Amino acid sequence: MPRYPRADGRLDFKSLTLDEIEAEIAGLGSEKFRALTAYKWVWQRGARTFAEMKNIATPVRVAMDEKFYIGWLECEGVIESADGTTKFLWKTDDGYQIESVLIPDGDRLTLCVSSQVGCAMACTFCLTGDLGLKRHLRPSEIANQPLQIKAGLDTRITNVVMMGMGEPLHNFDNLVAALRTYLAEDALGFSHRKVTVSTVGLVPAMQKLAELLRVNLAVSLNATTEEQRRAVMPITRKHSMAELLEACRTLPIMQHKRITFEYVMMGGVNDSMDDAARLVDLMAGMKAKVNLIPYNENPSRDIRRPSDERVHDFQTFLVHRGVQCSVRSTRGIDISAACGQLGKADPRSATDWFSRNRTASPA
Ligand code: SAH
Repeated sequence: MPRYPRADGRLDFKSLTLDEIEAEIAGLGSEKFRALTAYKWVWQRGARTFAEMKNIATPVRVAMDEKFYIGWLECEGVIESADGTTKFLWKTDDGYQIESVLIPDGDRLTLCVSSQVGCAMACTFCLTGDLGLKRHLRPSEIANQPLQIKAGLDTRITNVVMMGMGEPLHNFDNLVAALRTYLAEDALGFSHRKVTVSTVGLVPAMQKLAELLRVNLAVSLNATTEEQRRAVMPITRKHSMAELLEACRTLPIMQHKRITFEYVMMGGVNDSMDDAARLVDLMAGMKAKVNLIPYNENPSRDIRRPSDERVHDFQTFLVHRGVQCSVRSTRGIDISAACGQLGKADPRSATDWFSRNRTASPA
């Protein structure tokens, strides 16, 4: 794993697993115990310095401080939607902007997390694609998003979805390292049932992930023919839809989980009743659920959102033929939180949000 040393040689503590931290501090004495104590301070109590870890002997704390830094995302702003959706804008160490979106829905509080700055997949309908890939996020940056937001909440984040900026499986090693932190009981402690990785369909990485971790998988299908999918999702040239669906059928996680197929409905592109019929065929023999996402219109695309009636008919068609199918409600549209739409916010709004919701300071 990369250790992201700073100019002073110190390593990124939050990008390391517990085992790696233990190995790094070998020689300080009682490594295992010290590593675990510091790890819990950081991931469970949100410690930002080694100095505050009072139950670790001073010389060990000092030695750790010489060895590691504890990274933190600067919160540039928080924008709240009328529907309760909240978008967080973060600035990385090197000045890039990323975002996370918190979505309350009944008993659930779902956090949508970014995995890259920009994205290389170039799906024609997606605004994040316009940025191109600037860089992969580090494990620490992927895991700091829930950690820092949690600190400002009185309630628990119940679900995490890797559906923010970026293609998570394109940033495979860092994603896996971050997910280990999400799932570790001594770190963020999310259940694997509550964590979902969404992908355009990087087939080999999907298979590798399924071997390593038991998280949920969502696949952005968005089309019902090869030709249609190639036109909107260039990745189809590398991995055909047939290859992708075959891989989904044979993934080991199919034994105990359903794969979610996201289907962005674009007016006149993939929303015909013929599409619905083909989608039913594609889902045959698949332990799947389909999540229809009516396209969120934006000024830089000439793509139309289908009528509510069309979305409803499409859904009904699938359900009547035994395909589990839900419609994703559009949330946060008034704050451009709905899909990869970058926004600007006043940094003071971050201070407001974090102090209103509790005591933790954002930066
Ligand atoms: N790269 C991964 C993770 C991003 S998830 C993936 O593609 O799965 C973001 C989801 O939003 C994807 O399903 C994508 O197809 C969808 N999406 C992108 N732009 C959209 C828009 N304008 N309206 C509705 N859904 C959109």
